Amino acid sequence: MVKHKDVNKINKTLRLSNFQQNSQQKNKAERAPMNYTVHQIAEITNAQIIGDKNLIIKNIAFDSRIIYSTKNAAFIAINTQKNSGEKFIESAIDRGITIIISEHHYPQFENITWIIVEDSVEFLQKLAKYHFENSSIKSIGITGSNGKTILKEWLYQCLWNEFPTVKSPKSFNSQIGLPLSLLQINNSHQLGIFEVGISKPNEMKNLENIFHPQIGLLTHIGTAHAANFESEEELIDEKIKLFKDSEVIIYNGDNALVSNKINKLYSSKKLISYGFKKENQVFIKNNISKDENIVVEYFGEVISFPAHQRDEATLTNALALITVLKELGIENQKIIEKINALKAVEMRLEAIEGSKNNIIINDSFNLDLDSLKTALQFLKEYNKSKKSLVLTDIVGVNSNSQELYEEVSELVNEQKFDSVFLIGDEISKFSDLFKSKTFTFINTQELVESKHLTEIENQIILLKGARKFEIEKLKDLLELRKHDTVLEINLNAILHNINYHKSLLKPSTKMMAMVKANAYGLGSYEISEFLQHHHIDYLGVAFVDEGVELRKKGITIPIVVMNPEQHSYDTVIQYNLEPEIYSFRVLELFYEAVQKSGYDKKYPIHIKLETGMHRLGFKDAELDQLSETLNNINVQVQSIFSHLSSSDVPTEKEFTLNQLKTFDKNSSYLIEKLNYTPIRHILNSSGITSYTHHQYDMVRIGIGMLGESPSSEIQKQLQSVVSFKTVISQISLVENGESVGYSRKYKTDHTTKIATVPVGYADGIPRLIGNQIGNFAVHKTLAPIVGNICMDMMMLNVDHIPNVKEGDTVTIFNAKPSLKEFAAYCKTITYEVLTSISPRVKRIYIKD
Ligand SMILES: *Cc1c(COP(=O)(O)O)cnc(C)c1O
Repeated sequence: MVKHKDVNKINKTLRLSNFQQNSQQKNKAERAPMNYTVHQIAEITNAQIIGDKNLIIKNIAFDSRIIYSTKNAAFIAINTQKNSGEKFIESAIDRGITIIISEHHYPQFENITWIIVEDSVEFLQKLAKYHFENSSIKSIGITGSNGKTILKEWLYQCLWNEFPTVKSPKSFNSQIGLPLSLLQINNSHQLGIFEVGISKPNEMKNLENIFHPQIGLLTHIGTAHAANFESEEELIDEKIKLFKDSEVIIYNGDNALVSNKINKLYSSKKLISYGFKKENQVFIKNNISKDENIVVEYFGEVISFPAHQRDEATLTNALALITVLKELGIENQKIIEKINALKAVEMRLEAIEGSKNNIIINDSFNLDLDSLKTALQFLKEYNKSKKSLVLTDIVGVNSNSQELYEEVSELVNEQKFDSVFLIGDEISKFSDLFKSKTFTFINTQELVESKHLTEIENQIILLKGARKFEIEKLKDLLELRKHDTVLEINLNAILHNINYHKSLLKPSTKMMAMVKANAYGLGSYEISEFLQHHHIDYLGVAFVDEGVELRKKGITIPIVVMNPEQHSYDTVIQYNLEPEIYSFRVLELFYEAVQKSGYDKKYPIHIKLETGMHRLGFKDAELDQLSETLNNINVQVQSIFSHLSSSDVPTEKEFTLNQLKTFDKNSSYLIEKLNYTPIRHILNSSGITSYTHHQYDMVRIGIGMLGESPSSEIQKQLQSVVSFKTVISQISLVENGESVGYSRKYKTDHTTKIATVPVGYADGIPRLIGNQIGNFAVHKTLAPIVGNICMDMMMLNVDHIPNVKEGDTVTIFNAKPSLKEFAAYCKTITYEVLTSISPRVKRIYIKD
């Protein structure tokens, strides 16, 4: 290994002093994104052109829903094993895109220029390689098992105002995500921070071929993704291939295997190890469990900073961060300031129900151009026609503010806000750049006092500000219900869980999401809107009213009503809902309603077969008459389906296989008698995981998308979606022998610390888990419920929890206790727990 002193010389070009610091002088033309003609792109990638080869492409969109601007933009239809992007060509063209990159040509679309490629993913990779190799940026490549995304975000937050910086936007599949990120590089960028994830052998070679970072950063190696690798060793070998052409490698040296491998393979490079062990060049000197500054030793130098979060993972990431910042020549004092500013870096957007039918999107955690873009994109997922924006100064930027706010206003003007409220001296100077009704304020208080915000009705309001402006105060002002008890719903986790289930299925298998009973209690509209945005094929509700609510709020995808009630058939038709037909009585009455309505096409219906559940459905003996009737009336059987009663019960496998057999036989019989082929479906969530072969043409996911599985193996692959939380209202020291709560059911046997929390059986906490049957968690420690549960309150024994104070968060369920454990306290199943949470509990939707 090269000694640190010598290497400093080798690697001079990466240091801060050598960066051009004159981004102010760059004019706008130079800030252009990638800029190629159709012809150039075809040359670079060996593609065919149909159409105008002189058009200019500056932007490639791959998601037809978030096409930011159609000027000089092309849409690429990416085909993967799971999905065909070509389905979305039409919607991209609807949005105004005129250049399409695709593996196939669709001549039915007129006036479109096509770049026809052999393999969409390979195309992207080739183009990105060319683009990266012809840029002059310094790059940091981050790989490892855990901590990649957080380190990328931290580094960006620390560096974006030092150098014009580009980074990977999100943590998405690197085979596609990395090329798309590299294509974001423009010629004003001086630094690029890219995350490179892999999950299978041989993936890195491909990625290293297109992207070779000068600084390689290897985070903690853990067991995540290890499943596809034979051994930890194979995993490490694969990951460190990324550093083949790196000049510097920064790695976590606590893992001896990592350390050995890197030192053996890359002995000629500059290597810096960080970690908890003192053998590392960068390590923590003091005892982290003491409440004092963390002291880091960096090659004999000492850097100390206060830390709030002291868990091992966070501190390991902090060491990596410091090492990279030092490597880029940032001074110690500045590093400490930057670390302090990272407090609560979790960058997440919350959507909250506001008063006056507003939706509040709160992102008052940080403000930079990148997070502004993300937040503006998030707005597009809601189809409220009117929107307003609160935006503050962007603080701590070195570059020219005229140019900065020009860019900000361009982004904002794309969105056609009803009103824009600018807070701060700097941004106010540029209010003329904003095209909406624009108001300026010196500080947040002034906006509060102006009463402008409280007049807004039926809009979506985005709050986006630098932390020092404390615009979260506005959230309090605008929020609908003020409860300390909330049900937090993580939408990203829902998407993850859906994708996990999809990964088990054939790409062509459709998916219906069951959003009955207010989407298992989580909020039917919010969940459906999110799923519609993510192209779910069908929604399933139990009753007509549920479907009507969704239609009224703007859900347009097909909705199946599982139990359409007798007097609701007109409404079914009026709102374009699709009924489950489970008996001749329903079929006749429904068809009468169709005829009365004057509906002149074949009405879509879904035939339910009885196969063993004995709830609803047509039985074997009815099939002949059924097919005859269906052939004689003007309906379209959209699907034939049934429901498994015990797919989650391993001991009932034989019964389930019989149900599947009956379904196969009866549905085939019925299809034979019809002169067309409706799709078929029978699997619910646990059916998808246990009886995957029987997926037919569609599956119906419910509890699985909420992260619950009866199998502990599958459970590990899923993410927890729901977090039910409250806070401590009061703490009392109850003296020995005193009693707590109604009917004196709990008596202390010594002076005991008791916490009162503001939830009760009216919130959906069953009274039967009082008296030390159930536990909540405070500071990640379980605290038993003592005494009887009251209507709106209950008491916890927190005697064993040090430093607990009033206002502290109490977890009713999330990770600990988990939803499953909570359901076990209640002697019921997770489904009943979720659907029993009272509507008065505020639902908050989180997106990372
Ligand atoms: C609720 C429901 C589902 C979903 O069941 P999960 O066990 O939550 O996956 C599927 N099909 C029908 C007919 C349902 O009513």
